[in-house]
Amino acid sequence: MNVLKFGGTSVATASAMGQVKDIIEKTNGSVVVLSACGGVTNRLLEAVRLAGNGQVSESAHIIQEIELRHLDLCRDLILDGESRWDAISKIKTVCVELRVFCEGVALLGECTPRSIDTAGSFGERLSTLIFWLYCRSEGMNTILFDAREIMRTDSNFTSAKINFNELQRLTTEKLIPLLTDNTTVITQGFIGADSRGITTTLGRGGSDLSAALIGAALSAHEILIYTDVSGIASADPRIIPSAKPIPEMSFAEARELSFYGAKVLHPETILPAVERGIPVRVLNTFAPDEAGTVIVSEATREHGICAVTLKRNCVCVTSHGLTFADAVAFLGRIANYTSEVYSAVIGESKCFAVIDTPKDTTALENLTNGAPSNTSIQEVTLLCGVGIGLNGHIATKFSESVSNFSPFAILYGASDVGIIALLPPQSADDALRAVHQIIE
Ligand code: ADP
Ligand code: ASP
Ligand code: MG
Repeated sequence: MNVLKFGGTSVATASAMGQVKDIIEKTNGSVVVLSACGGVTNRLLEAVRLAGNGQVSESAHIIQEIELRHLDLCRDLILDGESRWDAISKIKTVCVELRVFCEGVALLGECTPRSIDTAGSFGERLSTLIFWLYCRSEGMNTILFDAREIMRTDSNFTSAKINFNELQRLTTEKLIPLLTDNTTVITQGFIGADSRGITTTLGRGGSDLSAALIGAALSAHEILIYTDVSGIASADPRIIPSAKPIPEMSFAEARELSFYGAKVLHPETILPAVERGIPVRVLNTFAPDEAGTVIVSEATREHGICAVTLKRNCVCVTSHGLTFADAVAFLGRIANYTSEVYSAVIGESKCFAVIDTPKDTTALENLTNGAPSNTSIQEVTLLCGVGIGLNGHIATKFSESVSNFSPFAILYGASDVGIIALLPPQSADDALRAVHQIIE
């Protein structure tokens, strides 16, 4: 049993959905996890935000656009007249629910995290509904399964955490009995429900995590993440078009790469699979015969940096002249302030931590005010070179290649699989290209 996950671009258009169907047809019974059609989640979140602001007609306009987009997909995909009308009416019903929901938010005049999750869930609900109706109209043996039946989370809306024991219990009770006779079960990524049945989401890009969790709960043979690139490449192909897919990576490397910004996988995706030794394969929906990247527990590649990535929109919070104990307390305060600390160093004369740029500046100011004197905050981009068997020689080559781009610091030895440079944001892309040359 495999779990196949298709991201937003893989279900963005009728022809992309056609490719997904072709891939699924070749598998013998599997669980298929879908994202929302590309761009839809952003529009849904915009619609509910506008509703909360009382901008009802702007919100309704977006919902109309979302509805039309999905109705067009029905028309393009489902050729049989009766099945098509059935699909259109089902989509319209879901869109009425969405419209009524946003009107309710507008009446309340407040867009809570709980409302954001309910609105956000419609993207995956619509994409899976259409895709299932399409597969059914093509005579395929498929079942549409609501992920909220098994994805039991806490109530931390917008980034809910799964209760894995509950997921496993519910999977055994509700999902496994459906997986008979080569049936393909189609379900939503990203969404779950708390113990009261209220819709939650796992955080942006969370469909990868959904696939990994479902794969882990099912003890899947493999988890196949289908996207729009042929595997994890040596750099983001949008920045470095010549970047090549890496045939095999260790879990540790893939995690490091995603932690430091490579958007190809959700940072926590790998963990549920790692813990159970399930390989994760990253494949291209639009070139499904290409080998892609397999992520295994221990890679057998040669030692060295295999990929580079940028973590943008960070700030480096530095404090000078602290005693060791004060520096520890200072970093502790930063760790309490944000869960996203990308790096922290205590030196003789200064200490610093790199964190995500805070959304509101008041919070940033509070952090500064609360800290001891001599604190500065500086925008940085982290450049991370990821690989196995890193050593002083490799670190030297890395340092030389970023040296022309005014690094604030280079960190080697803090991670077994990464070397990091802290760079001014404006020179980061050029630095990435320079480091990429040493691995080409
Ligand atoms: P999906 O919609 O399928 O979830 P994403 O947009 O989340 O896809 O992730 C795929 C994208 O990740 C690619 O289009 C690519 O631009 C980007 N990406 C960033 N870093 C890498 C990398 N090292 N290798 C491959 N893709 C990368
Ligand atoms: N649709 C969600 C998002 O855009 C989840 C996902 O695509 O993985 O964040
Ligand atoms: Mg993604």
